[in-house]
Amino acid sequence: MANKNLHTNCSFCGRSRDEVKMLISGINADICDDCIENAYELIENELNIGTDRKPKSGSNTNSELKVRSPKEIKQFLDEYVIGQEDAKKILSVAVYNHYKRITQKVQNDEIEIEKSNIIMIGETGTGKTLLAKSIAKMLNVPFAIVDATVFTEAGYVGEDIESMLSRLLQNCDYDVSRAEKGIVYIDEIDKIARKNDNPSITRDVSGEGVQQGLLKMLEGTEALVPPQGGRKHPEQKMVKINTQNILFICGGAFDGIDRIIARRVNTNAIGFNVNKEQQEAQKKNLLQFVNPQDLKSFGLIPELLGRLPIVTHLDPLDKETLRAILTEPKNSLIKQYARLFELEGVKLKIETDVLDFIVDKAMEFKLGARGLRSICESILTEAMFEVPGTKRKELVIDLQYAQQQFNSSKLGMMNVA
Ligand code: ADP
Repeated sequence: MANKNLHTNCSFCGRSRDEVKMLISGINADICDDCIENAYELIENELNIGTDRKPKSGSNTNSELKVRSPKEIKQFLDEYVIGQEDAKKILSVAVYNHYKRITQKVQNDEIEIEKSNIIMIGETGTGKTLLAKSIAKMLNVPFAIVDATVFTEAGYVGEDIESMLSRLLQNCDYDVSRAEKGIVYIDEIDKIARKNDNPSITRDVSGEGVQQGLLKMLEGTEALVPPQGGRKHPEQKMVKINTQNILFICGGAFDGIDRIIARRVNTNAIGFNVNKEQQEAQKKNLLQFVNPQDLKSFGLIPELLGRLPIVTHLDPLDKETLRAILTEPKNSLIKQYARLFELEGVKLKIETDVLDFIVDKAMEFKLGARGLRSICESILTEAMFEVPGTKRKELVIDLQYAQQQFNSSKLGMMNVA
């Protein structure tokens, strides 16, 4: 019974015979094809043996990880993310330093560059996920998005914190060495804020408990990860992942933090007798003053904040930014629709006042950049249904058509409070 698993799992990564291409058995241990490759790479690097052997497809060793300068990183981000200048600059430097640290040659002095995990604060739909995703894309490193709200302290209903690394592993085809240099974006970090200041009678298993659980992971530890995610269970073989070089980027809306900042900077909190525009401007200005102290007042524990040394904010999206988001990024919504019609042999022309109409509606519905998509869909669905199969060569969307389509859509029938 005790030897049940012998010869059925790789003794190095723990994956079962079904999960690997080949499992080679030794006297007391087994090794899979992936671990052989990884071990070989390690020996090759250590002993500097040059061979003709091609790296495994998609594999990304340190030397392949080409770190671009902060300016180049920012330039890349500019292609995908509109505005958010502060966040882009801070992220570019943090990411540069992080990957510089990974790729640096080992030196025999005492200076050890510490990790630069990041926390981003900004309303929902302002581009936090997009920023993290774009960075991973540029560096060609594995990337996973996880939601902090699904995790609970071990032993309670929910997912184990380590399962966030399962997604990273899955996204790089279980290549442990690649996963160890990946990026994890932890969304909704504000939702695991401590519920209140009193150490409660009932344990805060999905709040402070999770924050405690995250500490080691963010700092760097050998985590035992369930390869399929979810809860760890005793019969499952775990994959060991060192999180030392994984970059963690956390993001959250932190609703209400503006009041905390206002209190700290000793200005009046968002006032009653100012108009909406002024309120927004105040809010925007306040968020840029955010510091770890405010995050602590919001309910993040100091130990966690210590492991997220880089704090940055995202600005709320104003009309001009929304308008730019619609057309400017490399894969902007309008470019995507144009491509869809182009595939049907149809040239799509959307008149300028239609673009303004879309932005106005997004502002009205307070849907942020996410709303742009649903509004575009409501305007273009009918055309996307009718046009394929016809001999049409051009489709012009003018304001009258757009308004008519929008008003007859579900979205258009919604009452905006
Ligand atoms: P968040 O993570 O802040 O809630 P996302 O990054 O998921 O928001 O943004 C939602 C969508 O809105 C993205 O897919 C992107 O298309 C668009 N978007 C949001 N902000 C921007 C921006 N600053 N520049 C370009 N696109 C943006």
